[in-house]
Amino acid sequence: TTGQPAADETVDAPTSDRVLGAPLVELNHVNKHFGELHVLQDIDLTVHKGEVLVVIGPSGSGKSTLCRAINRLETIDDGSIAVDGKTLPEEGKALAQLRAEVGMVFQSFNLFAHKTVLDNVTLGPRKVRGMSKKDAEELARTLLDRVGVGNQAGKMPAQLSGGQQQRVAIARALAMQPKVMLFDEPTSALDPEMVNEVLDVMVALAEEGMTMIVVTHEMGFARKAAHRVVFMADGQIVEEAPPEEFFTAPKSERARDFLSKIL
Ligand code: ADP
Ligand code: MG
Repeated sequence: TTGQPAADETVDAPTSDRVLGAPLVELNHVNKHFGELHVLQDIDLTVHKGEVLVVIGPSGSGKSTLCRAINRLETIDDGSIAVDGKTLPEEGKALAQLRAEVGMVFQSFNLFAHKTVLDNVTLGPRKVRGMSKKDAEELARTLLDRVGVGNQAGKMPAQLSGGQQQRVAIARALAMQPKVMLFDEPTSALDPEMVNEVLDVMVALAEEGMTMIVVTHEMGFARKAAHRVVFMADGQIVEEAPPEEFFTAPKSERARDFLSKIL
């Protein structure tokens, strides 16, 4: 690792001195257009096993498209994206299998409205992983407990608060036993008093060693859990640095300008 943490960093930086593993998500020269708009411009990015990467940047800079491309919810024009050494196939059963290795949590919770909380979590493991109903339910209950909504299993999503729904969405993604978790502004649709209950679950996941790519403007989370912050603007990675460095001494004018607006 890179030296000893300073004395005043030791309390809040449990993850920053963790030893990272091999490359897990690798983007090489990824380009994507929407018509005339060059939304991802020659993106090179490697995320290592156990790493927590925070992606920030102005609205429209391509952050969601980047996440969606990693999960193949969007195609790319050229370049390559590999997860655990495997380049994602474009379609078919192999795509479903590989997509299962990449858990995704969206801004809008996207739970199945007409299924119970428990069924929301068991569906993927049963359909994609071929798990028995009994095993899937056991796993789901463990995960729902872990995110603090174990007592909500029989309810419908609409009966839960936004913060509870988002925690169910995290449990649902974890039920697929993904190798990496993508979070696209997971707290930005929440009422302020519910933000921390979701961030706390994410910090705990980070501390357990989950590989995470998190699009968020929550600086507290970034400082506490991120190894690295990537700043995107206009489809490009403009700057990347450890959070303490990025937030205190951003190098680019665009990052300074952005931070002055959100801090
Ligand atoms: P961010 O998440 O950083 O706000 P997005 O990745 O959502 O940015 O969008 C980047 C740009 O691509 C925006 O200008 C957006 O309007 C455009 N865009 C996103 N999705 C589509 C789409 N399906 N078709 C056309 N343009 C899109
Ligand atoms: Mg977005």
